[in-house]
Amino acid sequence: MEGKVALEEHFATPDTINPAHDARYASWFPAWPDIKRRLLDLQELRLPEMDKHGIEMVILGLHNPAVQGITDPKQAAEVARRANDTVAEFIAKHPTRFAGFAAVPMQDPDAAITELTRCIKDLGFKGTMVNGFSQVGDPNNVVYLDDPRYEAFWAKLEQLDYPLYLHPRDPLLSREPILEGHSWLWGSAWAFGIETATHALRLMASGLFDRHPKLNVVLGHLGEGLPFMIWRIDHRISQTPRNIPAKRKMADYLGDNFYLTVSGNFRTPTLIDAIMEVGTDRIMFSVDYPFEKTEEACTWFDELHISERDRHKMGRTNAMSLFKLGSTRSASR
Ligand code: ZN
Repeated sequence: MEGKVALEEHFATPDTINPAHDARYASWFPAWPDIKRRLLDLQELRLPEMDKHGIEMVILGLHNPAVQGITDPKQAAEVARRANDTVAEFIAKHPTRFAGFAAVPMQDPDAAITELTRCIKDLGFKGTMVNGFSQVGDPNNVVYLDDPRYEAFWAKLEQLDYPLYLHPRDPLLSREPILEGHSWLWGSAWAFGIETATHALRLMASGLFDRHPKLNVVLGHLGEGLPFMIWRIDHRISQTPRNIPAKRKMADYLGDNFYLTVSGNFRTPTLIDAIMEVGTDRIMFSVDYPFEKTEEACTWFDELHISERDRHKMGRTNAMSLFKLGSTRSASR
């Protein structure tokens, strides 16, 4: 399919790659040198791949954890601002091929609102990508997005009418004894999914979407397992009293306030399950470049045995509409 839009597509700047993270990835990820090279590249390697596989437009977002892992709020704000300026300058040169997600320093909610607003209003960005919890002041002090300190941030995002892409990061390994001694469970194989699905459930249960019903959150990897589990979660909650502020079922929020992308989960039965839970109006194409191969994602998606109408919606028009691509493109800069 030509004209696809992809939106879990990562980049890095030299100061977003944390040395500890870099060393860990290098030690257990054989492809890391090539991935790192591709993260730091915006054009030379990326554009030819997009052209070759029918991706017309990419919304660029930082890799994980990047800004969310910088414990000093002031430094987090500076790194976010520099990364946003760098990518905005690049997008301005290719406004029909690239758009951007703002990196936001959630360590300081007021600074996050300021940066979010600047990125959307002044730079033409299409929302924000947040890499899970933020470490604030101390590496062990983690804050999730359902924390009351973020109420004004969510209100501003709803008012600006753009989504938040909730991207995975590893849980703090020091707090997860079940992962100890099993490094194969870390990262995108398993830990990302359970961490991010739990984070999303916390948002739903907090009543966030009752207070802000127009908010949209995007989850990658076909919903981090939630479509498969959502009935059971609601079923068990209904059987035993829980102290949950939310007014509706979790499945209602999954269907009304979440979009899912196929990033890094190129599996037809899993897609069918996601379609049966949320419908094709709320599923979008993505690759998860450069951690996944563009060719594998596109070949699978282009050859799916689904209607051309659904392929077109998931591959292009759902994203065009959610991110208002096209209508504001010329106002990118
Ligand atoms: Zn990703």
